[in-house]
Amino acid sequence: MNASEPAGYAPSWYTATMRAAPERGPLTFDLDVEVCVIGGGLAGLTAAREIARRGWSVAVLEAQRLAWNASGRNDGFVLPGFAESMHRVVGRVGIDHAKALWALSQAGLDYVRTTIRETGMPGIDPVPGWLKVSKTDNTDDALADFELIGEQLETEIEGWPTERVRDVLKTNHYFHALHLPGAFHIHPLNYALGLATAAEAAGVRIFENTPALSIDAEGVRKRIATPQARVRASQIVLACNVHLGALMPRIAGTLIPIWSYVVVTAPFGRRLAEAITYRGAVTDTDLANHHYRMVGGDRLLFSGRSTTWDSDPRSYGPRLKADIEQLYPQLAGVEIEHVWSGVLGNALHRMPQIGELSPGLWIASGFGGHGINTTAMAGRIISQAIVDGDDTWRLFSPYEFVWAGGRLGRVAMQGYYWWFNARERFAARQARQREEEVRRARQRAALRAPEERTEAEIGAAVPADQLPAEPDLVDLPADPFSAHEPVTVAPPLRRRAGDPADDLPDDDAGQRGYAENAGYDQRPQPHSAVRDVSYAEEEQDEPQPEDQPGRARTDRTIWRLR
Ligand SMILES: Cc1cc2nc3c(=O)[nH]c(=O)nc-3n(C[C@H](O)[C@H](O)[C@H](O)COP(=O)(O)OP(=O)(O)OC[C@H]3O[C@@H](n4cnc5c(N)ncnc54)[C@H](O)[C@@H]3O)c2cc1C
Repeated sequence: MNASEPAGYAPSWYTATMRAAPERGPLTFDLDVEVCVIGGGLAGLTAAREIARRGWSVAVLEAQRLAWNASGRNDGFVLPGFAESMHRVVGRVGIDHAKALWALSQAGLDYVRTTIRETGMPGIDPVPGWLKVSKTDNTDDALADFELIGEQLETEIEGWPTERVRDVLKTNHYFHALHLPGAFHIHPLNYALGLATAAEAAGVRIFENTPALSIDAEGVRKRIATPQARVRASQIVLACNVHLGALMPRIAGTLIPIWSYVVVTAPFGRRLAEAITYRGAVTDTDLANHHYRMVGGDRLLFSGRSTTWDSDPRSYGPRLKADIEQLYPQLAGVEIEHVWSGVLGNALHRMPQIGELSPGLWIASGFGGHGINTTAMAGRIISQAIVDGDDTWRLFSPYEFVWAGGRLGRVAMQGYYWWFNARERFAARQARQREEEVRRARQRAALRAPEERTEAEIGAAVPADQLPAEPDLVDLPADPFSAHEPVTVAPPLRRRAGDPADDLPDDDAGQRGYAENAGYDQRPQPHSAVRDVSYAEEEQDEPQPEDQPGRARTDRTIWRLR
């Protein structure tokens, strides 16, 4: 660990564990290169490295320190795909086009893995696996993802049932999950710094604390002004993310900035390993809440919440601590040692902005919360376009530059986040309630079981002829309400005349006979356990309606579903 925070980097777990990196001086002299890359995050560094590896001269201008924001502050999940859902991508561009985009995103992931291995960069700690867990018992979305990613996009994926998920994540907040064994997580700041070293090894010249103040992109030789010097280049790559600002305001206006908040806990000792035995990365949402992974052996890196304005990250420490404790009560009393925020940029369509804005002026931006693989992908695509004239970048042309609505757009997006989170929380609470009802119904059934056993045991011990005879119906006192009229009762099952009822489990044979006679649908339904519970409760607590179709019975009929 570094004793003091490195200048120009906001404190975080990553800066506390970053590998020593030389500070690159600002540009103080005029420079002529073939390509000038503006922005020293993951997108700019990858593009610069790849262009230089193809033999061109490249300079990187970074306004502050390399990877000082999103690229060095993110959660470190390296996943295939994009910020946008692949179902929506398929809907927009068709399956063949979507397959090509997915393959590029997967190649971005492979690039990160290969670069780490080939350069032997230190302090990255890659750990395999990503688990996307569901907070509800509805499996429809997971099955659709499973089918699309596994079968159509041909990526290794596993569906985990609830028991398996809870075996490794000891919380009752989670149900089933999708597992991507090919994904992994890393220390992103050390990766970015390692990438810078690799880029320099390929010949790139990097200048920190050198903002590009203006660009003149007309003509064959383009000019970039910086505070102390000027760069001339035949090609410019804008890799500025949401920091582009005044350099190109109209393009900058196509991204919505989103701040996300991250904490790292104090060491837990054994407690963490007992609560979470899965070592890969975990996501339990399609938006901000939550993403987490173990770091430093026994600490939890946990992120969530998001705002479309820049809030003091310190106020998010207690909120994320509360989120951890709600998910894992066994981690109560957790201490937060590091808290920080980072800002990402999303286009309205949530797909990256990759392409040529005008001859020789390129953009690689808008990677959203899915930028580690996609910045690598963009760096390669743009280097191939510039050096080889390759037009793979045109695969992104359906995703145009659309003004994101300025302040109003940010307010609307914040509203969407709040609505989405509220909806997620509501659905999750309902799912847990349903599960609790099932559990209670089972408990009740288990409590009833000994009575039945006792009766059976008495029956076994006492010879049948010595048992008191069952009284004739006529001997029983009459129910004042039903003495004069038969009560008709039907089970609360949906009628499906003509449907076979032969796929009931064997222990429901009696009920099946009934269903066959009455013509009710007895096939397993989605959430059938839940339906059973409400049925059982109705049976116990609710007066039975008298006017439903079904066979007549007396009020003494014993009727039990399970
Ligand atoms: C909290 C958080 C968690 C995330 N988690 C993940 C994750 O787990 N997995 C994942 O894949 N993605 C994640 N992301 C997203 C990912 O970090 C980003 O998409 C990615 O880092 C963007 O890289 P970039 O190079 O485009 O932008 P940046 O890292 O923002 O770099 C842009 C650089 O351009 C520089 N710049 C801008 N204008 C100028 C100028 N005029 N002159 C010179 N320099 C300039 C800036 O100073 C900046 O350094 C996360 C993001 C955040 C904020």
